[in-house]
Amino acid sequence: MAGYKDLKARLDRGDTIIHDAAVSTELQSMGVPMDFVAWSGPANYTHPSSVVQMHERHIRAGSDIITTNTWSTLRPTLERAGYGDFVREINARAVHLAQEARERASNGRDIYVAGSLSSHITGRDPRTGEIGFGAFSSSPQVSAEELKQYYGEVTGIMAEAGVDFFIVEAMGRDNEARIIQAKAAKETGLPVWIGFNAYIDSKDTIMAGGQQNTTDIAEGTPYEGSRTMKDLTLSEAVNEAIPVAPDVISIFHTRIAIANRAVKVILKEWSGPVMVYPDAGRQSAALAKWHNHSIENEESVEDYIDAAKAWVDQGVQIVGACCEFGVQYIEPLRQAVPKKISVPR
Ligand SMILES: [Zn+2]
Repeated sequence: MAGYKDLKARLDRGDTIIHDAAVSTELQSMGVPMDFVAWSGPANYTHPSSVVQMHERHIRAGSDIITTNTWSTLRPTLERAGYGDFVREINARAVHLAQEARERASNGRDIYVAGSLSSHITGRDPRTGEIGFGAFSSSPQVSAEELKQYYGEVTGIMAEAGVDFFIVEAMGRDNEARIIQAKAAKETGLPVWIGFNAYIDSKDTIMAGGQQNTTDIAEGTPYEGSRTMKDLTLSEAVNEAIPVAPDVISIFHTRIAIANRAVKVILKEWSGPVMVYPDAGRQSAALAKWHNHSIENEESVEDYIDAAKAWVDQGVQIVGACCEFGVQYIEPLRQAVPKKISVPR
């Protein structure tokens, strides 16, 4: 079975690599219930066969990399959701389920398992000081020391379970949290890929982050150890992350039009391999609608493929898709992008 060394060799010689599409929204579309607090995280425990099938679909569609369902499996999140005794079980099983899918579906192809590092950092309730308040939050109210402990725990569990490398999927403006995640991953001895989402501010500057978080409202109430969070341009945020020595830097969970601009920033600031996996829009944008197949993405398969081909033309080497883009986007992607980029980075 090929390991990361083989993937690295493929990157070094300029092969294009196909990532998977969205994990959590795909599970949701398959009927897996989403926990109000921990979203898709508990599914590794409650719906393991669906998780295996989700990964298998991606492998059969042509993904070279599958990502563990661990975007929302940090201890405070699972505790808040009532799964506090299952932190090891849920994170280890996420890796085992991806490995099982690889065994069942790879058919001799080399498939790599990326351990997703959760950006799902629950915040701190401004009234009680309790960690585990709110969903989809990244909060400076959770101290750097606390974050180090939480990420150290899950990276240790996933490394022991046999993940091939880590992929930091930190959303939002909290670049310090992103770097803490990446360092925790590196401490296991495994490689790390670091992701950024992006938005365009009122001055037309490409900024790091995007999704604003409910716990931002608590920023005015400092707790012991709380951090200050300042807006960074994407360029500044990337340059803070480069010293952690990632193997790949990505733009992810960003709509195609913004990703088109953000990728140029990454290509300029970073000399190594670049990855893009955008998220989709929906004509009726609401989290609750993601499971509803009658609502279509605003981006057709053709729109997505055209964007991906343009990225690869510019030197992007790894392409995939994020929230709301399903597995049906992956097969045409594999067909459409060239097997190699013109100049390996
Ligand atoms: Zn996403």
